[in-house]
Amino acid sequence: LTEAAYARIAETDERIGAFLTLNEEAARARAAELDQAGADKGLLHALPAGIKDNIVTKGLRTTCASQFLSNYDPIYDATVSGKLRDAGAVTIGKLNMDEFAMGGSNENSSFRPVRNPWNTDYVPGGSSGGSAASVAAGQVYFSLGSDTGGSIRQPASYCGVVGLKPTYGLVSRFGLVAFASSLDAIGPITKNVEDAAYVLQSIAGHDRMDSTSADVAIPDYVSSLSGDVKGMRIGVPKEYMGEGIDPKVKEAVLAALRVLEDLGATWEEVSLPHTEYAVASYYLLASSEASSNLARFDGVRYGVRADDPDNLLDLYRKSRSQGFGQEVKRRIMLGTYALSSGYYDAYYLKAQKVRTLIKQDFDKAFEKFDLLLGPTAPTPAFRIGEQIGDPLAMYLNDIVTIPVSLAGVPAISVPCGFADGLPIGLQLIGKPFDEATVLRAAHAYE
Ligand code: GLN
Repeated sequence: LTEAAYARIAETDERIGAFLTLNEEAARARAAELDQAGADKGLLHALPAGIKDNIVTKGLRTTCASQFLSNYDPIYDATVSGKLRDAGAVTIGKLNMDEFAMGGSNENSSFRPVRNPWNTDYVPGGSSGGSAASVAAGQVYFSLGSDTGGSIRQPASYCGVVGLKPTYGLVSRFGLVAFASSLDAIGPITKNVEDAAYVLQSIAGHDRMDSTSADVAIPDYVSSLSGDVKGMRIGVPKEYMGEGIDPKVKEAVLAALRVLEDLGATWEEVSLPHTEYAVASYYLLASSEASSNLARFDGVRYGVRADDPDNLLDLYRKSRSQGFGQEVKRRIMLGTYALSSGYYDAYYLKAQKVRTLIKQDFDKAFEKFDLLLGPTAPTPAFRIGEQIGDPLAMYLNDIVTIPVSLAGVPAISVPCGFADGLPIGLQLIGKPFDEATVLRAAHAYE
């Protein structure tokens, strides 16, 4: 399987651009080890996996697709990297992304863009674009991505694969290079829902190395895939099916709803009234947290250091000017502004209050429904170059994934059709820590 993965990468990756670093020597050695008679057979035994390049891997270059970290070889493994290894997966390499996970098209990678395997003139989505494209192109069996405001679900939707963002805190963030710590979540990107259950089973669980990791019992996700959704109550937020949603996407989502109805689920419209404020509050909160998290990149501790600085301040300034790309700088400036004295109350604090209201919208809806359903993204993939000059248009692609991130609840994207040859994704959203129901419904639908 390892050899097949590298052969497929050799055949396709010049066009797709999913990988930033390959792990050939170590992967082959690991595969040989797993091949020995008597080797432990974990849940993911010998499966070729790709890891997004903001998840640290011991001794294996981890760049976050940034020039700043272009020489960074971590001295430790993220908890999830270790867990994949323990489950028997073989790390094939590190996957391209938007720099520091900021973006929705993978055009913000400072190395090269990723192309959508369904049509290479189109974006694969982002920021986990390499993770989604690699699975869609058959290079790896599954990958890990990270999702702060949609970065697992939206690229999964654009690439016609399955992407699961777990409940905040279910999967350890230890070793995930932080973008917005109160939102970041690691999750699987797979070819089908069953595979997502296997990968989640392998990476979920409490970790004392992450102070926000939840100490909850992990159910058997795989055995929850019973195919039965009889009596399941589904809410369809009217805000997710309204203005700005492509009619073809809406049609595909309604068709999926009929499938679930035929299987015995019931559905009703519901309102999440604060949805319209989600994108604005997300970009304030995520950028504020990013401005603080990215302060550690100063040219001293990690990555590339600028040459010939005049003094220490000049070293910071030059290293940051040279190391960060345009979108990252935009977020740092926005976040620093929103946190500065005099503006904190008007922007950051206000956005936190809006976040609470959004969370309460979900709490209320889940009093009545087991699951919420809508599209993953308002449109299918767009052309490379089409939106890169218009950050606001780009930000609006996450209009139906961001509220879910702000609420911290789990959601999956599963393929539900095509428009003009490009995949469409269906989003199923669950109660906190109820991944089992999300997976069960997605599996029954698929
Ligand atoms: N596209 C969103 C952003 O640019 C989400 C990114 C993410 O989830 N990492 O912030």
